[in-house]
Amino acid sequence: MAAVSDYDIVIVGAGVSGSFIAGALTRAGLRCVLLEAGQSFASSDYPDNELDANALLYWGGGIELNKDASIGLLRPKAVGGGSIVNQALLDRFDDSAFDSWRETSGVDFLNRSSLDPWYDAAAENLSIRTVPEEYANGNARIFRDGFAANGYRCAPLERAQGDCRFEDGNCCIECLRGCPIDSKQSTPVTVLRKARDAGLEIVSRFEALRVENGTDRVTVHGRDHDGEQKSYRGRHLVLGAGAIGNSRLLLMSGFAERLPALGDNFYTHPQYMSLAVYDEPVNAHRGPLQSYKSADPGFRANGFKLENVFAGPIGIAMLVPSFGTEHMRHMRDITRMACIEVAVRDTNPGRITVGSSGKPIVEKTLNEEDRKRRDRGLEAIRNIFRATGAKQIIEGNIAIGLHLMGGCNIGVDPARSVVSPEFRLHGHDKIHVADSSIFPNAPGINPSFTIMALSSMAAEKIAADAR
Ligand SMILES: Cc1cc2nc3c(=O)[nH]c(=O)nc-3n(C[C@H](O)[C@H](O)[C@H](O)COP(=O)(O)OP(=O)(O)OC[C@H]3O[C@@H](n4cnc5c(N)ncnc54)[C@H](O)[C@@H]3O)c2cc1C
Repeated sequence: MAAVSDYDIVIVGAGVSGSFIAGALTRAGLRCVLLEAGQSFASSDYPDNELDANALLYWGGGIELNKDASIGLLRPKAVGGGSIVNQALLDRFDDSAFDSWRETSGVDFLNRSSLDPWYDAAAENLSIRTVPEEYANGNARIFRDGFAANGYRCAPLERAQGDCRFEDGNCCIECLRGCPIDSKQSTPVTVLRKARDAGLEIVSRFEALRVENGTDRVTVHGRDHDGEQKSYRGRHLVLGAGAIGNSRLLLMSGFAERLPALGDNFYTHPQYMSLAVYDEPVNAHRGPLQSYKSADPGFRANGFKLENVFAGPIGIAMLVPSFGTEHMRHMRDITRMACIEVAVRDTNPGRITVGSSGKPIVEKTLNEEDRKRRDRGLEAIRNIFRATGAKQIIEGNIAIGLHLMGGCNIGVDPARSVVSPEFRLHGHDKIHVADSSIFPNAPGINPSFTIMALSSMAAEKIAADAR
């Protein structure tokens, strides 16, 4: 018989949402435990190379594939979740995102004026800065100049960062595998540090495998890194395991019977990276990785946005569609390459189910409208590269899904949604969710800041319920 530990609140998943909720509930004086399948890292021991980072910071050893292998899914796995590996770009949603959310969900508070105080509350936990213009690297300058040459609008982007010490030559491509100088405002250096000091218990390398909803307690059963079965029991349970993680856990626990929409409505903002080779060095890997964001109303109306990220050599090698000596020749050009990606605001919902071995199966394709959105974005990228003197353009043919959203969508109708406007699973008063899994559809905007805002809002409701 597995040992059972008792708490006020059990939280599964120490990503963006789980961390923010754990912090707020601990501050409210509740006894919380935060369970995370991934490891806990200090800034000094993040993996120092791309290969180890893929293996140690992601589920599936770096990348998982959807059912027809057309989209690579990046699913973070660490204390801090996506905040460890992401680019920390923070954006509030606009009316287009919220209008569409309200229409799909019937949830009235999904609008800017209701959410703004919660964005503000979340921001109090972070340092948010723009990257000083003088540090813009070659890739960012191509992005900015190409936008100007085509009459497209771009803007400085806002990042959750402290002091990145760019004057010392720091390169933020490194922070994609965990920021070694604690500048990136990932949750272990923000909300979790304070929460731990205030008594939050964090259990890393524990995978939750089953949720049992009893009359006055909810129990999470799972196993630790050594394979030992353990259980954690709380008066309330918060699920923060992300879109795929929450759907998988609830499906494996038999909740589908009472929640017919469980696992549906899954979106990814599929992203396609295009590379361009220039005569002169670009050094896209140096300094701040991104300085500007696309802010073009025409792009927004056409359902895409552009970002100029770069990947490590392994990531770039996957995108270059060639073999053998030709591939080696391309890779020798890596310092002369620029990269821009198009992220599609996808309209075709996917579906998460669980295979017999417990592995999540993701059915997700692009429909005609999504392909049109992608193609319009690729055309804008080609225009930018051509206007800035690119000698060759290489279109990466793999879609990457790294904004994983939905599966437990919020809504008023229990037949078509999973989570109620009170952030509780429909029909289950003690199980709460406010992470990326509750997104009703794809907003087309970076999701983290809104996850923080919704989680801060939900935490207040959960604290009231728990009291
Ligand atoms: C490379 C990359 C770059 C990105 N860049 C940006 C960006 O610049 N701006 C932005 O807004 N967004 C960005 N994102 C997306 C953003 O990071 C995610 O949307 C966000 O992290 C989702 O938050 P979450 O709380 O829903 O889940 P996550 O942060 O993914 O956390 C979920 C956690 O739950 C854990 N978990 C899952 N299942 C279990 C289980 N059964 N038991 C225990 N633990 C479990 C996972 O290991 C994980 O740590 C990026 C993502 C990636 C991968």
